[in-house]
Amino acid sequence: MKIAIDGPAGAGKSSIAKLVARQLGFIYIDTGAMYRASALYAIENGIEICEKSFTKEVLDRIKIDIEYDEDGQKIILCGKDVSKRIREADVSIGASNIAVIPAVRLKLVELQRELAEGHDVIMDGRDIGTYVLPDAELKIFLTASSDERAKRRLKELHEKGQTADFEQVKRDIEYRDKNDSEREFAPLRQADDAILVDTTTMSIDDVKNCILKLAKEKM
Ligand code: C5P
Repeated sequence: MKIAIDGPAGAGKSSIAKLVARQLGFIYIDTGAMYRASALYAIENGIEICEKSFTKEVLDRIKIDIEYDEDGQKIILCGKDVSKRIREADVSIGASNIAVIPAVRLKLVELQRELAEGHDVIMDGRDIGTYVLPDAELKIFLTASSDERAKRRLKELHEKGQTADFEQVKRDIEYRDKNDSEREFAPLRQADDAILVDTTTMSIDDVKNCILKLAKEKM
């Protein structure tokens, strides 16, 4: 069985997907982490994030592996664990910029489909229900107001000991939403057969239980 969770930045997709995956014994695949790792490769190697930079030769050098342990998913970029580094603000913006480049998307979508093949998975991103796994049995479009999403992101950053300003976090989120919704290739959009879950006033537990209920109905 495949579960697709899409939605804008900071809607809680990955927190929810991790919890649901653990409960159902599914594999969790965080596709945003792959765009982040690709952006980090560009940042570390001084590659300008624009269409002409990502030739086949450059794309072939970006080696992304996913490893699983008791703490969840680890992202390995060219042999190095970058799971923490890819969560920083410069990489978030880089990921949003790199995600508009069709050649990058095609490479990552291929990897995402390979990882999902033959497994029960829950995959989160922006184009999972519409493009990566159009036949997913359950599709959720998870959203929340941009104020609420910025509030949650800020709390997460504070918990990690990072300082950030609410208005800046909100601007970054809105910038990424705009990039994701307006790109030509596989933009962020609710699939026709996706169920909309607005989490603005819901707790994490409420959202988890709502999705578990929907998944069990499909199973
Ligand atoms: O989900 P996360 O915030 O980690 O994703 C980082 C960036 O990667 C997003 O801002 C989005 O632009 C891009 N992305 C995408 N398609 C996906 C997953 C992420 O375009 N399936």
